[in-house]
Amino acid sequence: MDVFWHQRDLRIADNRGLAAATANDTTLAVYLLDNRVVGSIGERQRAFLYAGLRQLRAEYRHHGSDLVIRAGDPLEQLTELVAAYDAETVYYNTHYNPARRARQRRINDALPTKSVGDLTLVDPAVLDASYRSHSQFYNDWQTLEKPAPARPNTEALATVSDETPVPPLEAAVELPEAGYQAARDRYDQFLDDGIETYNDTRDDMHLAVEQPIGAVSRLSPYLAAGMIGIRELWAAATERYETANADSVRRNIEKFRYELSWREQNYHLLYNNPNLPTENYKQIPNPIAWENDPDQFEAWKAGRTGYPLVDAGMRQLEQEGYIHNRPRQNVASFLTKHLLVDWRKGADYFAEKLVDFDPANNSASWQWIASTGTDSVDVRIFDPVAQLSKYDDQAVYIKAYVPELRDVAAEKIVDWPNLSTAERDELAPEYLEPIVDRNTAYERAQRVFEQALGNQ
Ligand SMILES: Cc1cc2nc3c(=O)[nH]c(=O)nc-3n(C[C@H](O)[C@H](O)[C@H](O)COP(=O)(O)OP(=O)(O)OC[C@H]3O[C@@H](n4cnc5c(N)ncnc54)[C@H](O)[C@@H]3O)c2cc1C
Repeated sequence: MDVFWHQRDLRIADNRGLAAATANDTTLAVYLLDNRVVGSIGERQRAFLYAGLRQLRAEYRHHGSDLVIRAGDPLEQLTELVAAYDAETVYYNTHYNPARRARQRRINDALPTKSVGDLTLVDPAVLDASYRSHSQFYNDWQTLEKPAPARPNTEALATVSDETPVPPLEAAVELPEAGYQAARDRYDQFLDDGIETYNDTRDDMHLAVEQPIGAVSRLSPYLAAGMIGIRELWAAATERYETANADSVRRNIEKFRYELSWREQNYHLLYNNPNLPTENYKQIPNPIAWENDPDQFEAWKAGRTGYPLVDAGMRQLEQEGYIHNRPRQNVASFLTKHLLVDWRKGADYFAEKLVDFDPANNSASWQWIASTGTDSVDVRIFDPVAQLSKYDDQAVYIKAYVPELRDVAAEKIVDWPNLSTAERDELAPEYLEPIVDRNTAYERAQRVFEQALGNQ
């Protein structure tokens, strides 16, 4: 008998650690409720993980087995289970965030374990330790072979039953349906309705309202919880790519595969830099003069900055636990550049609110936006007016999330921070004045970051 220890890999299909265990011996699947890990993530994501656990248990029961759930110190729980079932080895998939790594080390020191790389297509350890930009990473990454989906042997699952309940937890937002089947259905929908136009539609913010699944996949909550395997996604996208009958279709599918490489790089960064969630990745010669104004930070969180794009994005986060990638970039840029609030505060807030919070993607993306990460541009500042004009000129996304602006003409919404106070007041008396001046804030950010970089 072996034990397979589930963590953020709440699925049977394409689970490499489970495949390795079931290829070796009869396997007992377990999940450990560890407050130091699940207690540190936001309530919304925790509720989604618990819903996923219930689905996973149903899958095991369907195969005549069960998911054994234990709460408490993971080493103590695993030690007891190993003794009770006379298990030889504890298998698990390697996770890279610092808390999980520390936990894995403790368990490796005390029990016979085998860990397997599963989270990424390419094992982060096989690539160079440091790339300065995504394109350098991508050049190497794309030449490496990507493994086929793993196939656990469900015949080898232990015949057991366990009644330990999954804790009940309701989220304050509507969650996507959890579990592998829901993830697979969503991906199938995207393969049918979205992947062939993905490059053309992924930045269209009005589609975030009109075609939320399709213009992008919205698989991030499932990937972050490990409810679908990355090799399974890659294989299906690759099959579509290889059977596509037009260059334009191939270009769109290729863009989807390319976006997955960002996630791969972010894991590679976290693997090589365990401090990525807390320390600047880039060596910056001078301190960044963060303002960290508490009132402005609160206004940002509440979606009350008077910048329509920023407020719509933050309100989508509040209402759905998700933000489309384009506004996600903009709200992060506005916080770290226009308001000069330290990226760590924004990243922590996202970790609390996102259902798709992922330790690698979140910290690496915040650092990229804050110019402390791997962006090849020294100081990039997203201009919320230009961005809105380019990606939502009819203000469809804005009107969906900022009702105060529903009756205002789109061109006025796009230009909102440039209008006079009197005009703003007349057009939408309920909406807010911008909390910072667009040009002053932009120039201040430029100055502060150039100084930090030693360019001034
Ligand atoms: C400040 C900031 C914080 C972020 N925090 C997270 C986070 O906590 N969790 C998270 O999964 N993503 C995060 N992202 C990346 C990106 O915004 C989301 O992955 C994407 O919007 C999820 O929507 P989707 O599944 O429809 O993506 P799709 O466009 O359909 O892409 C499919 C998958 O590819 C990966 N992917 C796509 N774009 C990126 C990207 N730019 N960087 C990394 N991976 C990508 C994701 O796993 C995504 O689910 C963050 C981005 C920014 C700018």
